[in-house]
Amino acid sequence: MKRKSKNLQGRECYRRMNFLYQASMLMAGRNNVLSAFYGKLCKNIGKKATLRIAPSIKRDLCKRCSLAQKPGLTSYLNVKSQKRRTNKQSSSSTDEGSQVQLVCELCGYKRNFNVSSNYNIWLENPECVAEECTLDLKQSSSNENKPDVKNNPQTK
Ligand SMILES: [Zn+2]
Repeated sequence: MKRKSKNLQGRECYRRMNFLYQASMLMAGRNNVLSAFYGKLCKNIGKKATLRIAPSIKRDLCKRCSLAQKPGLTSYLNVKSQKRRTNKQSSSSTDEGSQVQLVCELCGYKRNFNVSSNYNIWLENPECVAEECTLDLKQSSSNENKPDVKNNPQTK
């Protein structure tokens, strides 16, 4: 079931965040400071409007400086050797139990990810999706809202 995009809360904020995220990814490697600035803005809008950012998008931005993380371009990728304990349990995959470390080029923040095929976070589970909303990026839909805002300044 798809809701009308009018009912989506924080639609304008999602639009701005979408734009800033894309701008941040575009600037990564060309102008890292600008990319980090756009990433920070994107995060701040989400924080202020209390909107959830998808984990995959969150992972693309550095936790400390918000620089868009592109391995080889704006971040280094290291692989730590696997632990012996997990080796016995799952002998099927050699990568199982090892750690991937992402180091930000701008601030040096290290982020560790465990390699595990059994582990899935809840938000990436298809069951957690209650409904899908689409953002109309046409100019006509945004013009519809603008007179409403002007007519009713009390409603913000
Ligand atoms: Zn960083």
